[in-house]
Amino acid sequence: MRAEVDRDLCEANGVCAGLAPAVFELDDEDELVVKQSEVLPEEVERVTQAVAACPRNALFIRDR
Ligand code: SF4
Repeated sequence: MRAEVDRDLCEANGVCAGLAPAVFELDDEDELVVKQSEVLPEEVERVTQAVAACPRNALFIRDR
């Protein structure tokens, strides 16, 4: 499973980073960083919650 962000949609509000901090992080310039593009099995549930919670629908998960 891979996590990707559409930077045109992301408004860097940090919702995903709050829900899955091992995977998503805001950098010093308030740009969202996907720290693990290949999501570890133990992070799948948190990433799925973050995708659902993103108010801009800017996050996507792919099987590969
Ligand atoms: S929750 Fe969505 S809009 Fe907010 S930082 Fe994450 S990807 Fe960007």
